[in-house]
Amino acid sequence: MADYDYDLFVIGAGSGGVRAARLAALSGAKVAVAEEDRVGGTCVVRGCIPKKLMVYASEFSGMFKEAQGYGWSASDSVFDWPTFLTAKDIEIGRLSGLYAANLMNAGADLVHAKARLLDAHTIELVGKDKTVTADKILIATGGRVSTPTDLEGIEHVITSNEAFHLEKLPKSILVVGGGYIAVEFAGIFNGLGVDTTLVYRGPNILRGFDEDVRAHLSAAIEQRGVRLMVGAQHQRIEKTDDGFISHMDNGVKCHTDVVMFATGRVPYVEGLGLEKAGVLLNDKGAIAVDEFSRTNIENIYAVGDVTDRINLTPVAIREAAAFVQTVFGGQPTSFDHDMVATAVFSQPPVGCVGMSEAQARRALHKVDIYMTKFRPMKETFYGGQERVLMKLVVDQGTQKIVGCHIVGPEAAEIIQMAAVAIKMGVTKAQWDSTCALHPTMAEELVTIREKHAPMETSAA
Ligand SMILES: Cc1cc2nc3c(=O)[nH]c(=O)nc-3n(C[C@H](O)[C@H](O)[C@H](O)COP(=O)(O)OP(=O)(O)OC[C@H]3O[C@@H](n4cnc5c(N)ncnc54)[C@H](O)[C@@H]3O)c2cc1C
Repeated sequence: MADYDYDLFVIGAGSGGVRAARLAALSGAKVAVAEEDRVGGTCVVRGCIPKKLMVYASEFSGMFKEAQGYGWSASDSVFDWPTFLTAKDIEIGRLSGLYAANLMNAGADLVHAKARLLDAHTIELVGKDKTVTADKILIATGGRVSTPTDLEGIEHVITSNEAFHLEKLPKSILVVGGGYIAVEFAGIFNGLGVDTTLVYRGPNILRGFDEDVRAHLSAAIEQRGVRLMVGAQHQRIEKTDDGFISHMDNGVKCHTDVVMFATGRVPYVEGLGLEKAGVLLNDKGAIAVDEFSRTNIENIYAVGDVTDRINLTPVAIREAAAFVQTVFGGQPTSFDHDMVATAVFSQPPVGCVGMSEAQARRALHKVDIYMTKFRPMKETFYGGQERVLMKLVVDQGTQKIVGCHIVGPEAAEIIQMAAVAIKMGVTKAQWDSTCALHPTMAEELVTIREKHAPMETSAA
């Protein structure tokens, strides 16, 4: 075997890269990781974690209102954005430091540099005037935001990257996009008291999610105060003395302090030197890999968002662990991408696992739908009007539950546990045999008996 500097060189110290580097190093391999930005990647630095902290911060405004219905007197609660930002940045710094420490404690070398492939075994550390060689290379460079390039005034917009660091909280914001990031940020800003408009060019937000979830959530976020404008897109963005005017193709002009685009993310492959190593992309611009995360080049692998399979942190981590097991553990292991639970940290939140009703109707012969919408006890007590949606999609032939969808408080926490049973292939009868836990919202999930009439399918 040729003599390389490292057994494994990992490009990118995000969710996937850190897990792979740590596990490989702990297995005795000689490992290095290159990171061009902060250790921790998107999830820790500009994704899941800071976003969830912002969700928490923004939820208090609603809680203060609810509290009055429970006998608390109104108080002058004031939110201070700089105080929150400082606390949030300290926490992100702590987590990023932990990730770096874990890597080093496992024995991996951490290099702060952009890495670029020179060939299938040689990596240039840009700006360090250094090259290293490795037997195996793992590309875990994640994704990056993508905004339209041909829109007049696009240079004025912010993306989720900047939303975490705004100098001051705007009075008004226009959030553009219909995916989970757009919906989450609309909820965050609305909860923080910012006059919020969410614009999406399609007929409804959260394309690909169950139609009942989409309808329920869009009504709920409007009810909470987000102005929702669907079927509209920008013609141009005009800068004014005190903000921006978004000229929409439906004739509406929106004047806001800030315009945020959350219109998509793409695999981050720029400047990686893939062509020099001969690594191929698929037709979506992601690194093409097989079930073992191996590229077309025998010693080069890729995991996480750069492969654009399911772009979630736990998926990147599991793909990374499977890669290490395959390459350094001597056991070919592939991660099963089926029945991965997902959440939208909207307000109210969404939790889903498995197929939507439309997907099930396309894939299976016949399906049974069980659905309930109700006002939970906590809401009815103080006169709140928000309803919870719970929906089960059942394969009529096998009676297995193939989808579960929840919109309502703690949906993400509930769906994590529902996913265990559904992944194991639970039938509706087994599900129903589980005794309810009272008084909870989740008990409704095991007590839905009535079949629901088929949905009217609408275009996405
Ligand atoms: C706003 C937002 C919210 C999100 N919320 C959630 C959520 O709630 N739950 C969830 O599961 N997922 C969420 N995600 C998705 C999640 O963050 C990603 O799926 C996950 O981080 C992917 O991990 P990764 O290892 O593939 O890449 P990343 O975590 O993006 O890490 C890639 C790393 O590689 C580095 N890098 C890139 N190129 C090079 C190079 N050439 N040399 C050196 N370093 C390089 C980057 O700087 C980065 O640190 C969110 C994403 C965003 C943007």
